Amino acid sequence: MSDGTAGKGKGAVFVRVEVCKGCSYCIDFCPPHALEFSREFNQKGYHYPVLAKPEVCTGCDLCGLYCPDFAIYGVRLKDLEKRREAAVAAAAE
Ligand code: SF4
Ligand code: SF4
Repeated sequence: MSDGTAGKGKGAVFVRVEVCKGCSYCIDFCPPHALEFSREFNQKGYHYPVLAKPEVCTGCDLCGLYCPDFAIYGVRLKDLEKRREAAVAAAAE
């Protein structure tokens, strides 16, 4: 589903590469300009976003908010960690 591009900053994005239509909204509206188009094409022939600057991604999910096709979403790494800890705790019960 995703190229799961984990970042080194505070956020990460997940992209459903084959759903993307290459409209560039996510790239245009990302506040810190963390996204760029891929060099590769998806199977529909579109470039899709990649997290070119993971160090500036905040996980704000504005990219997900603006994507008309639900092809991308951003997450805060601390939220991911909380979910991971909750899953580990649930599995241990
Ligand atoms: S989560 Fe926010 S900062 Fe990260 S790529 Fe998406 S819009 Fe940009
Ligand atoms: S907004 Fe959605 S459809 Fe448009 S380029 Fe970004 S991921 Fe692809």
